[in-house]
Amino acid sequence: AQSPGVRNHVCRFELGMEDEIRHRRELEALVRDAAANDAFELHYQPVVSARDGAPVYFEALLRLRRPGGGYVPPAIFVPIAEDLGLITKIGAWALNRACQAAAGWPEALGVAVNLSPVQFGGTDLNQAVASALAASGLAPRRLELEITEGLLLKHTESVLHQLQGLREIGVSIAMDDFGTGYSSLGYLWRFPFDKIKIDRSFIVGWEANDRHVAHILRTIVSLGRTLNMLVTAEGIENAGQAALLRDLGCDFLQGFHFSRPLPEVEVAPYLLRPRLSLAEPRRAPPPLQ
Ligand code: C2E
Ligand code: MG
Ligand code: MG
Ligand code: MG
Repeated sequence: AQSPGVRNHVCRFELGMEDEIRHRRELEALVRDAAANDAFELHYQPVVSARDGAPVYFEALLRLRRPGGGYVPPAIFVPIAEDLGLITKIGAWALNRACQAAAGWPEALGVAVNLSPVQFGGTDLNQAVASALAASGLAPRRLELEITEGLLLKHTESVLHQLQGLREIGVSIAMDDFGTGYSSLGYLWRFPFDKIKIDRSFIVGWEANDRHVAHILRTIVSLGRTLNMLVTAEGIENAGQAALLRDLGCDFLQGFHFSRPLPEVEVAPYLLRPRLSLAEPRRAPPPLQ
């Protein structure tokens, strides 16, 4: 006979499954609703120059408000939107919105928009990008598209063709989350990415005493140099990491140390704030006597 403990365990498991399914249905309804009503938001996280800490561009990050307050993380709702066949519509909305926002910023600042591999499935991605640029009047060189390497594992030839078409529009292309995939090196030479973004997982909790990680980071940076690509390090959470990644030769730094992703209305006030210096600012020369 089964012990009561086992029975309870089975019941709890089944209830857990039901909860999970209900939770999933609620999220699907939320995503459908937001897609139908353009109720997503975009937040913008500054990416700063490793040379002087000045903001160079902002990464646009999707946000979905939960009815009870707070946000559902994109790591949860983006895959759901992909499954529901809604990511292309949402992605086009994000492109438009981000270009509109950036068109109101100082000329020197760019915006980066994340793309889902699913958006490469159809033929209208290039058109969505071109029309977001045309509608906003944003110069193409101010827009960067971030893709993940998962994209290049499948349909490589047609994807490379689409990327080439985007390049011809004049936007730049960044390889996001570099180093986390299965084939990071296998494709890098096949397409002239403008930029590599080193994944946050290399940097989380990392301090100078971890020699192995330092070697890997240095190798990624010099790989970028060799291939004529700029390098952004994401996930910089403290001044020590900022100084180390600057010293390793990264061009750009991004992370909570500089700023969390900001609602659109907070971008202008952020630009007025005195900039956060890097960990070990070069000292001003002593005053002339
Ligand atoms: P990602 O493109 O790699 O974006 C960077 C993520 O790291 C963001 O998470 C950002 O908030 C977080 N982050 C930045 N600095 C730090 C830091 O110092 N510490 C920590 N712990 N985290 C940091 P978020 O906004 O939750 O986005 C997660 C992922 O969702 C993104 O990763 C991207 O893959 C996806 N995503 C976001 N917006 C979009 C979008 O518009 N379209 C698509 N297709 N995917 C998106
Ligand atoms: Mg990104
Ligand atoms: Mg990233
Ligand atoms: Mg990432």
